[in-house]
Amino acid sequence: MPQLIDAHIHLDQYSEPARQQMLAGLERAGVGALVAMSTDLASARRTLELAREDRRILPAAGFHPEQPLPGEAEVAALLQLIDDERESITAIGEVGLPWYLQLEDPSLDSAQYEALLERFIRKAAATGLPIVLHAVYDDAETVCDLLEEHGVTRAHFHWFKGSDAVLDRMLSNGYAVSVTPEVVYRPKIRDIARRVPLSQLMVETDGPWPFEGPFAGRMTEPAMLHASIAAIAELKQLPVEKVYRELLETTKGFYEIE
Ligand SMILES: [Zn+2]
Repeated sequence: MPQLIDAHIHLDQYSEPARQQMLAGLERAGVGALVAMSTDLASARRTLELAREDRRILPAAGFHPEQPLPGEAEVAALLQLIDDERESITAIGEVGLPWYLQLEDPSLDSAQYEALLERFIRKAAATGLPIVLHAVYDDAETVCDLLEEHGVTRAHFHWFKGSDAVLDRMLSNGYAVSVTPEVVYRPKIRDIARRVPLSQLMVETDGPWPFEGPFAGRMTEPAMLHASIAAIAELKQLPVEKVYRELLETTKGFYEIE
């Protein structure tokens, strides 16, 4: 079975039996590692705990932007946790801007979310850790401004779905982009996969987020990424072995995975 890495999953959000079953099947499924996101302080602590039990789990610490802002004590504790666990943490994430929350509530104070994101970007610059971004559509412009301002280049935009113009800016800055299993069936994501060179492309499930098309009704798991890779090979008209090899190389290089 050719090898792959799931570059973005929320492992702490699965039920214990589902997670156990998934981890037990990883080797058989050719999945060598999982970059495990967190969504707040408790999630970051839990994800670090999971990583201590299984070396294939590469933990990230962050605060997901699609929720009410945390209090200052939680932010301070998260930033402290990143410093304290610098050697155990693979990345800062998931962080970013609240696109969907803002759609629901246009009165949302976006400046405060930007200020929080800027603190994580500063932490990425100070620690040298890569940063994993939730920045869909036009929000990616604002995030690029902040990354450029702080000189951060190890940036991974997960599930990006913005314009070609901002995608070109991200690519010329050397950022990485990942696509979800939507690359199998959603035209917008297929266009993005076509435009991103394999040297900057990764695959992710964002599990347990559920997918549609051929994945409807199935629990999201890293083994689904074989279908993503087959779709990418077809879109780029490249041999699938080459796509496996280069995606793995890109992901290992970006996250410094041995
Ligand atoms: Zn996510």
